[in-house]
Amino acid sequence: MSALARTAIGLTAGAVFVAAPLLLPAFHVTLLNYIGLSALVALGLVVMTGVAGIVSFGQQAFVGIAAYTTAVLTTTHGLSPWVGLPASLLAVTAAALLIGAVTLRLSGHYLTIATIAWGLAIYHLFAYLPGLGEHSGIDNLPPVAVAGWAAETGVRMAWLIWGVLAAAMLAARNLLDSRRGRAIRALRFRGVMASSFGVDVPALRLQVFVLAALLGGLSGWLHAHFLRFVSPHAFGVNAGIDYLFMAVIGGAAQVWGAVVGAAILTMLKEWLKDWLPAVLGATGNYEIIVFGLLMVLLLHRTRDGLTPAITRWLPARRLPVPPPAEPLPPRGRPAAGSPLLDVQGLAKRFGGLVAVDQVSFELRSGEILGLIGPNGAGKSTVFNLVSGTLDATAGEVRLQGRRIDGLQPHRIARLGLARSFQHVKLVSAMTVLDNVAIGTYLRGRGGSLRAMLRADRAEERRLLAEAARQVERVGLARQLHEAAGSLPLGQQRIVEIARALAADPVLLLLDEPAAGLRLAEKRALAALLRQLRHEGLSILLVEHDMDFVMGLVDRVVVMESGRKLCEGTPQQVQRDPAVIEAYLGGVE
Ligand code: ADP
Ligand code: MG
Repeated sequence: MSALARTAIGLTAGAVFVAAPLLLPAFHVTLLNYIGLSALVALGLVVMTGVAGIVSFGQQAFVGIAAYTTAVLTTTHGLSPWVGLPASLLAVTAAALLIGAVTLRLSGHYLTIATIAWGLAIYHLFAYLPGLGEHSGIDNLPPVAVAGWAAETGVRMAWLIWGVLAAAMLAARNLLDSRRGRAIRALRFRGVMASSFGVDVPALRLQVFVLAALLGGLSGWLHAHFLRFVSPHAFGVNAGIDYLFMAVIGGAAQVWGAVVGAAILTMLKEWLKDWLPAVLGATGNYEIIVFGLLMVLLLHRTRDGLTPAITRWLPARRLPVPPPAEPLPPRGRPAAGSPLLDVQGLAKRFGGLVAVDQVSFELRSGEILGLIGPNGAGKSTVFNLVSGTLDATAGEVRLQGRRIDGLQPHRIARLGLARSFQHVKLVSAMTVLDNVAIGTYLRGRGGSLRAMLRADRAEERRLLAEAARQVERVGLARQLHEAAGSLPLGQQRIVEIARALAADPVLLLLDEPAAGLRLAEKRALAALLRQLRHEGLSILLVEHDMDFVMGLVDRVVVMESGRKLCEGTPQQVQRDPAVIEAYLGGVE
C-alpha cells in the first residue's frame, strides 16, 4: 500500500470516528458504546485464547473488579475517576497475578473449568460483600472529565471508548508483530516448542494472562463511568461466555476479530430480542435458543471465525523481503574435534517401562552423529532427555563440559542447543519467515512494552534479516512469505531446521528429519546437512531410516530396546551381526 493510500485511509477512519457518533441516533450510539466496551475485553481474549491458546470463560471477573474498584473510590471516597483508573488496573493486575499463578499451571480443560469457577466466585463476591451495595450495586458514579470537559453524553463516551479501543488494538497488533509476539504465537503445542527456543513459558503465559485481564479492566473502568452505576449482574458467567464467543466468532487470532465479533454478537442479540417475540407472538427467552443455534451454525461454517473469511476478499498485502541489517553477533564456536556433548549412564523409566537404559555416548564438535535403531528403541526419549523436555531417571548430560540434565529446556537452549521435532511444530498460519524468526528469540531482548510502543524496530529488523538469511540458506527463499502450514511436509521439516539454525546453535538436534519425505526431498535434506557440517555445525541425528543415515553421518550409535547396542563408523556397524539382527529380525 502506498503512503498516500495509507494517509487517505487514516484520514477517512478519523473522520468516521469523529462524525459517526454525531450522526447516529442516540440508541445506536449506545449500541456502539456497548460494542466498544465488549470489543476491548474480546481483544484480550484474541491474544490470550486465539493466539496463545489459553481458553478463559472468566474475563468478566476482571471487568467487574475494575468497575467496582473505581465505583467504590469515586463514590464512597469521593476520588476522581483518574485516581480510579490506575487503582482499578492495579487491582486487576493483583487479581490476575494471583488467579494466574494458581490456575495457569492447569492444562486444557481443567484450566477452562477453573476460569468458570473463579468467574462464579467473584460474581458472588460482588453480590454479597458488604459495602458493594449487594444486588443493587453502586450508583451515582461521576463521569470521566478532562479539563472540565465531561464525558456525560453517549457521543462523548463513544469517542472515549473507541479512542481507547483503537489505541489498544494498535498496541495489540504491534505486540503480535514482534519478538515477544512470535513467542506468544509459539505458546501452542503446550509450550514445548516455545521453550525449546528459550521462551520461559510459564512466565510468558502469566504475562499474557495479565495483559488480557488489563484490557478487561480498562473496559470495566469505562463501563462504570459510562453507565454511572455498577451492579453484579453485568459480571455474571453468561457475560464471560459472550466475550469468548465474540473473540471466536470474529476470528480468534486477529486483532480486528474482536471488533467484528463484538459487533455481530451485540447487534444479533438486540435484533433477536425485538424480532423473535413479533414472529413467535409470545415473549420468553427464545432468543437464547435461536442465538445458540446461530452460533453453532456460524462456527461450523467458518472455523477460524469471520475475519479470515472477510480478509480473503481483500487484496493481498505484498510483503517485502526484510532488508539486510547489521548481523547479530555470532556465538563462539568450540574448536573442531573438542568434546561437545557427553552423555553418561542415561536412563529413563516410564512407570514400569525402561525406555532408556544406561546409554552413554559422546559427540565431538564438527561431526554428525547418527542415533539409530528400530521403532520404540528409545531414540526420541534420549533426544528429549538431552534437550530437557524430559527429566532423566539417572545419568548425566554435559554440553561443552556443563551439566545440563535437570535444566529446563529454555535454559538449555540458552547454552546453544537447538532442535527440530519429530512431529513438525510450526505455527501453520504464520509465514515461513515469522516461524523461522521464532528461532532468533534468544538473540534479541525487546519486551512487550517496547513492542507495543514500536520502540523495538531496530532490533526487529536485525532479527528478521537473520531469519531471512537462514531461510535462504536452506533454500526456501521463494517460500519466505507463504503460510508455513501450506507447504508440503518435506519443506516444513526444512523450515524447522532453518528455525533451529536461526538460534545460532553449537549443537543441532534433529529427530527423524527424513520421515515422510520423498526420495528427492531426502537427497536435498542430506545435501543440506552435509553443507551445515561443512560450515562447522555439529549435529545429533535421530533416524530410523538406515539408508539415509549411512551415507551421511560420521559415526553411529545403535540403540535397541532402550540399550546401546554398539557404536562406530557406518561401515563398522553395518557389518555388526547384532545390528543386522535388530533390523532384519526385529519389528522392522
Ligand atoms: P523411538 O524414538 O526410538 O521410536 P521412543 O523413545 O519414542 O522410541 O520410545 C521408547 C519406548 O518408550 C517405547 O516403548 C515407547 O512406547 C515408550 N515411551 C515413550 N514416551 C513415553 C511416555 N511419555 N510415556 C510412556 N511411555 C513412553
Ligand atoms: Mg522417535
